[in-house]
Amino acid sequence: MRIVCIGGGPAGLYFAISAKLRDAGHDITVIERDPPGATYGWGVVYWDDLLDILFRNDPESARALQAESVLWQEQRILLRNEQTAYLSGYGFSVGRAALLDVLGERATELGIDLQYRREVNGDAAELTDADLVVVCDGANSRTRQRHGEQFGARVDVGGNPYIWLGTDRVFDSFTFAFEQTPAGWIWFHAYPSTAGISTCIVECSQQTWHGLGFDSLSSEDSVGLLEKIFERAIDGHALISQSRGEPARWQRFTQVTNKTWSHGNLVLAGDAAHTTHFTLGSGTRLAMIDAVMLAQSLYDHEELPAALESYDRRGRAALRPIQAAARTSMAWFERADRYLDRDAVAFAYAMAGREGAHPPWRYQMHLATQIPAVRAALRGVDSARRWYLARRRGEAPALPARSR
Ligand SMILES: Cc1cc2nc3c(=O)[nH]c(=O)nc-3n(C[C@H](O)[C@H](O)[C@H](O)COP(=O)(O)OP(=O)(O)OC[C@H]3O[C@@H](n4cnc5c(N)ncnc54)[C@H](O)[C@@H]3O)c2cc1C
Repeated sequence: MRIVCIGGGPAGLYFAISAKLRDAGHDITVIERDPPGATYGWGVVYWDDLLDILFRNDPESARALQAESVLWQEQRILLRNEQTAYLSGYGFSVGRAALLDVLGERATELGIDLQYRREVNGDAAELTDADLVVVCDGANSRTRQRHGEQFGARVDVGGNPYIWLGTDRVFDSFTFAFEQTPAGWIWFHAYPSTAGISTCIVECSQQTWHGLGFDSLSSEDSVGLLEKIFERAIDGHALISQSRGEPARWQRFTQVTNKTWSHGNLVLAGDAAHTTHFTLGSGTRLAMIDAVMLAQSLYDHEELPAALESYDRRGRAALRPIQAAARTSMAWFERADRYLDRDAVAFAYAMAGREGAHPPWRYQMHLATQIPAVRAALRGVDSARRWYLARRRGEAPALPARSR
C-alpha cells in the first residue's frame, strides 16, 4: 500500500515504523515541514504503561527511547516556596527533540522515506497517488481544518495562558511551584528532561496574566519577569525560552475533538484527531497508541474501509474517558486559586483528586506520605516495581535524573 503521513511528529513517525514492521511491502513517506532536529517544546512525561506498549511493538526503538529518558520520583508541591507537600509515584521524561531523533533514525533504518522541509498546504489532493493519507500534522492540522465538516471537528480554547520553557535548574522530582503576586497566583509544572535541563511550563489565570503585564511584554521581558517571580523556586537559575531557534510564546491550550477520525482515504492520528490538556501528560502517549492501533487495524483487515472503521471506533471509544479526565484537570487548574488558601498538604491532596473523589483512606495515606521515612519506603517499593516491570520488558531499569 502507498501511504503518506502528513507530519513527522510522534504520531506520524511511530505510525510509519509500526506499519512498516507489520508489512515491509508498504511504501511509506513521511512529510515534515521542519528540518530534522527542529521541534517546539521541551520534555514530555510518560509512564511504564507506555514503555510496555512500545517494547511489545518495537523493542529496538523502545530501548533507544528508554536510553534517552530520565526518571523522576515523587511530585513536590511548593507554596510560595515556604511550604512543601509531596505526592508519591514516579514517571519518565524525554526531550521532544531526542524522541523525534530516535524515531526518525529508526524510520530511516526501516526504509521509510522521510521528506523534511516540505509543507502540505492542507489540500491532500496534492498527494493523489497515495492509497492512504495519515493526517498527523498536530493540533492545528491544516488538512483537518480543510475537511473540518466531514470530520465533525471542534476546537475549543482553554482559559489559562501558558508558556513552555526550559530551565538549567535540574529537578529530580515533578515539581509544582505556586507563587502569589499582587496580580494573583502563578505557577509552574517542572520536571527533568535531558542532561542538565528541565522542562518548565508556566501557567496562570488570564486576570493574573494581564495584571502582570504579560500582554505587553516581549518574550525576553516575559522570561525576565518570570525568573524574578520564581527566583527562589528555580534557585536563581535561568529560564530558557528558545527552542528550535524561536522564542517561546504565551499560548492557550487548544482542545481538539472530532466526530470521526476517517474520511475517504484520509485518517486522523495524534493531536490532529484529539488533544488532552498537558496537565495529564498524555498527548504523546496517545499519539503513539493511535499509531500502533492504526497500523494493527491495517494489518488485521484486508479492506482499507474496514481497517479505518475499526481504528476510528476503537480509538474514539478508548479516548473518551481520557479526554474527559483531561478536561476536568484543565478546569481544575483554571480554578486553582479557590484551593490556594489551604496549606500545602491540603492543597496537594485537592490537586491529586482533581480527576475524581478519593476514598477516605487515601487522605491518611497522603498524610503519611509527608513523613520522610514513609517516602523513602515508598520509593523503595517503586524501585522494586520498576525493576520488575523493566525485567518483564527485557530492558535495563532507569536511573534517577540526578545520578545520570
Ligand atoms: C505545554 C505542553 C506540554 C506537554 N507535555 C506532555 C507530556 O508531558 N506528555 C505527553 O505525553 N504529552 C505532552 N504534550 C502533548 C504532546 O506534545 C502532543 O500530544 C504530541 O506532540 C502529539 O504528537 P503529534 O505527532 O500528533 O503532533 P506534533 O508533535 O504536533 O507533530 C506534528 C508534526 O507535523 C508537522 N506539521 C504541521 N503542519 C504541517 C504541514 N502542513 N506539512 C508538513 N508537516 C506539518 C509539525 O512540524 C510537527 O512536526 C504536551 C503538550 C504541550 C502543549
